[in-house]
Amino acid sequence: MPAQPHPLAEYADRIDAAKVYTLRQLAELLELAPSSVSGMARYGWLPGSRMKPHRRGGRTYTWTGKQLLRLAARPIRVRFDHERYAPSTLYRVGCRCPTCVQAHSADSQERKRALADEAFPKEKRDRLVALVADATPVAEAAAEVGVTLGQVYGRATWDAAFAEELDEAAWSLCVLGQTDPACSTASGYRGKPGGTSPRPACRGTGCREWRRGQAQLERSEAAAA
Ligand SMILES: [Zn+2]
Ligand SMILES: [Zn+2]
Repeated sequence: MPAQPHPLAEYADRIDAAKVYTLRQLAELLELAPSSVSGMARYGWLPGSRMKPHRRGGRTYTWTGKQLLRLAARPIRVRFDHERYAPSTLYRVGCRCPTCVQAHSADSQERKRALADEAFPKEKRDRLVALVADATPVAEAAAEVGVTLGQVYGRATWDAAFAEELDEAAWSLCVLGQTDPACSTASGYRGKPGGTSPRPACRGTGCREWRRGQAQLERSEAAAA
């Protein structure tokens, strides 16, 4: 059986010899879900760890950067045994079968979402939605909660429940009021820059939905032409 580079090898230049890594920090470094790293530890690919009581109870593995660098330089021999090893872990040691490739992309997605959750946790999301429901524009609400607009709309692309809450709350942002007949129309969306009774362009849910429908229509017309 040929030897494979250790899964740490690719990341060796990011390992700080003077640092002590927790399992979570190591998962971050390897761009893996913590569960995959504890799997590697169980398989014996990450020897030399210390168990340390975790502040929230239970115990956690730690490694010195020095030990990780030693491991990174040591190739390992792993049979691509799909019964024994998790596919996302086998991917890291070189298996590119469809199952392992798919698990790898699911794994990086899980990791990205875990990081997103940390930066924009439920408590902040609830505050943001409450602010928007109170007619605070989304950009202002985001600034008040301490996140970027990108984080807000980024989350809305994959968290359907949050996207719905946000949409529901943003009805309050209609400049005309959602009961006005011009809400959810071109006139509401564009606003009225001049004249005797100017009003700003509306970015409430109704008017944004009008715009979304319009864009769809334009696209299908363009496709038909
Ligand atoms: Zn595989
Ligand atoms: Zn509106």
